[in-house]
Amino acid sequence: MAGTSTPARSSARSSLPVRVVLRVRPFLPSEAASATAPCVSLLDYHPGGEVTVQLKDQHTSRSELYKVDSFFGQEDSVSQIFDQEVRAVIPGIFEGINATVFAYGATGSGKTYTMQGTEDFPGLIPLAASTILANCTGTWCSVEMSYYEVYLERCYDLLEPKAKEIMALDDKDGNMQLKGLSWVPVRSMEEFEELYSIGVQRRNVAHTGLNDVSSRSHAVLSLRVSTDVVKGKLNLIDLAGSEDNKRTLNEGIHLQESSKINLSLFTLSNVFSALNKNEHRIPYRESKLTRILQDSLGGSSRAVMIACLNPAEYQESAKTVSLAARPCHTETFTSSSKQETPKVKVDMEAKLRAWLESKGKTKSIQRMDGLLSPVASKTPLSMSHMKQPTSSRISCRAKAMDQDGGKLNKMLFDPKVHVPTENIPQEQRQTEVNTPKKVVLPSVTQCHEKHEASLRKALSPISSNMVPVKQQISDNGNCPILLEPQTPIETHNIVKETPGATPLERLNALQSNLKEALVQQYLEVLNVADKEELQQLKGIGLKRAEYILELREDSPRPFKTLADLEHIGLSSKQIQDIQKKMAATGIFK
Ligand code: ADP
Ligand code: MG
Repeated sequence: MAGTSTPARSSARSSLPVRVVLRVRPFLPSEAASATAPCVSLLDYHPGGEVTVQLKDQHTSRSELYKVDSFFGQEDSVSQIFDQEVRAVIPGIFEGINATVFAYGATGSGKTYTMQGTEDFPGLIPLAASTILANCTGTWCSVEMSYYEVYLERCYDLLEPKAKEIMALDDKDGNMQLKGLSWVPVRSMEEFEELYSIGVQRRNVAHTGLNDVSSRSHAVLSLRVSTDVVKGKLNLIDLAGSEDNKRTLNEGIHLQESSKINLSLFTLSNVFSALNKNEHRIPYRESKLTRILQDSLGGSSRAVMIACLNPAEYQESAKTVSLAARPCHTETFTSSSKQETPKVKVDMEAKLRAWLESKGKTKSIQRMDGLLSPVASKTPLSMSHMKQPTSSRISCRAKAMDQDGGKLNKMLFDPKVHVPTENIPQEQRQTEVNTPKKVVLPSVTQCHEKHEASLRKALSPISSNMVPVKQQISDNGNCPILLEPQTPIETHNIVKETPGATPLERLNALQSNLKEALVQQYLEVLNVADKEELQQLKGIGLKRAEYILELREDSPRPFKTLADLEHIGLSSKQIQDIQKKMAATGIFK
């Protein structure tokens, strides 16, 4: 097989609440012929610290460095990932400390293989189940499981024969509860395998009764342990594949589906980032999945994000890693081909910083530091449960149980097993069938050109009320920002002539025109501004700005009204706040 493999390398337990782990699958037989080396490799390993990985595009020699907590190469097994990353959170479950393991990545990158595994190589889900059940043997602890999927922001119970939709409702403490979700007691691996295989089959057939949507839904398997004192939960999640335009185009995935998936993954990434930075506000409420998982993310809970990578897909992998990991400061762009002209790296961050400094906006700079810092600052949150020895009450016999877990019910992996879908409500199937929405998207080359254009745009000033000032290169080679704010344009449109109107009526008219002009200009900025400019708006950080650029690649000028801010994850309350702020020019009672 082409390509080299790297032995599993893992840093010592980091102190961050969310660990980020990379997992590169082997080349598939169909890829082996054209594959040379995997696009991602381990570069540097610091005992007791993070690991540095390099993503490299074989064609352009573009490469990027990222820091993650641990790296598993092509020959590393799922049981190695389990031993190094998941086993340590299990004792905490018995002490009431929830944990969540996510498999994240593009479709085909190995998420299901990692979570579910095969008959011969069980994935993290059966391995975790067998370990938890082994820990319960001879104790009063009991285990229950639930299995549900989140598809287009709706939840479906996979353990219910009718795969019924379950409502996510806030309880009196503001925590989200899945009302009516089945929690089925599990006493042995046989019981677990039987239940799990039924759920997997239901997921494959899908509640829509249409083609396989399993790669476009998030599947959450939860194992809940009750001791005589506490309840703790381990969630194991096979996330929907992150989608790109190319796939949306090729495979007819609805744009709506793809943007919902990307929005929920983007929110998840923001939640991780906020947790690891110990921020005060964690944006749980911006997607269904994070709302449901709120009790298992944050606080003393622990999460492991396994970013799965296809070794043959550089762009796709780079996208996955950029959402999951922390970029290294030394991002490199090497130009191997002779035709390419060397690129001058313009440090927009430094430009923005210089501009803010020149305006005396020190608060903005502090915020920017939080948002743009290439390597997330470490927070002194304890990972005490990871360091604690396994409690004597629940001795660790998982090794023995690993073998038990090896024989999953055959039904689980037999695609021929069919689960009837007659019970699916007619209108639900209809909606899916009736929305073929032939989306005409630009060709891949066009998208590429657009991307190039937007990159170019990012380096040039916008045309609204800014004019270029003379560019100066400072000693360190960074350019100060090229924009100089000017008096707002188009005031003549705002002050419309209203013959015969009293001064008071004119003032009134002026105020409402002003509000409208503000809204329009704000939407204009969202539709055309570059990444750095977007970040000057309240509520928009680096990731949200990047997401806006992505939305604009899907459809030009996606922001038509303020309500469209929902597409970037703002709640209706946040949108109302923005509206109120715009209306704050009010001088009338
Ligand atoms: P995803 O769930 O991300 O869409 P899959 O788990 O279905 O991707 O994996 C895609 C293909 O790669 C499948 O054929 C799977 O069997 C194979 N695969 C993934 N990971 C491995 C691995 N570690 N070893 C061997 N084959 C793998
Ligand atoms: Mg899958």
